[in-house]
Amino acid sequence: MSDGQPGPPFEPPLEDFFTPESGVPSEVLRDACHGRSSLTCGYNCLFVNTPDGMAVIDTGLGASFLGYGEYIKPLVGQLEDGMTSAGLSRANLAAVVFTHLHQDHSRGSIWSGELTFPAATAYAHALEVAFWSGTVDLPQAQPHLEAARETIRLFGERLRAFEYEAEVLPGVRTLAAPGHTPGHSAVLLESQGERLLCVGDTFYDPLQLTNPSWATPWDLDLAASIASRRHLLERAADERLMVHAYHLPFPGLGRVQRNGAAFTWHPLTLGMSDSPAPTTEH
Ligand SMILES: [Zn+2]
Repeated sequence: MSDGQPGPPFEPPLEDFFTPESGVPSEVLRDACHGRSSLTCGYNCLFVNTPDGMAVIDTGLGASFLGYGEYIKPLVGQLEDGMTSAGLSRANLAAVVFTHLHQDHSRGSIWSGELTFPAATAYAHALEVAFWSGTVDLPQAQPHLEAARETIRLFGERLRAFEYEAEVLPGVRTLAAPGHTPGHSAVLLESQGERLLCVGDTFYDPLQLTNPSWATPWDLDLAASIASRRHLLERAADERLMVHAYHLPFPGLGRVQRNGAAFTWHPLTLGMSDSPAPTTEH
């Protein structure tokens, strides 16, 4: 379910995501993006119907968000409207699983100053909780500090800290994906012989599949984030997993294919039948 997806002219410039400091010289970016200058940034919250109740993985930016400028306020924070149209009640949500505690993933659960999902148990990696609870000096982490800390405070004892390779809910297993943040996690869903790999912020754009070494200014540990991206993409390709990427255009679902040392993204369009093994016809 989308929390929002700003379209043109509000799409963010690619050069904000891929910078010389994050390992992408501007002429390399220019050559790779074939005239495209912006990135379609979705906020795709993934609902999972588990035997223990309905869960959501990441919660969007929340209503009344002004952090990127006034323009974005009406364009995001739509998760609750989406839930209402889908017949889902905030009060009945059983669990919130955070891939990490950046504001665009956590603020949707606390933006009003109270818990958006009052009955939910929350799950975040132990290192993530420890990082945001401690002294945070990194300048690129500052915009996220308030939402991360408020999430930790409001959930209180209902926030469960997990480790990697933990089954936090039936069929919902956490996987190592550190680098973007210290406890950034992927989530592997398994049901009736099918699997879906939710990669969080492992990549923002298909350009990071063709160029897995491209990091962004928001990856707190560049080398670790690149290693996590390569590892998860290799696994997704080799095990032919359906992939959910939080920031790709809605719904952010697709499959990954190896292409030499890099990868290709094959998006699944809603209403289109899925081909389990991507072939060259895409
Ligand atoms: Zn994000």
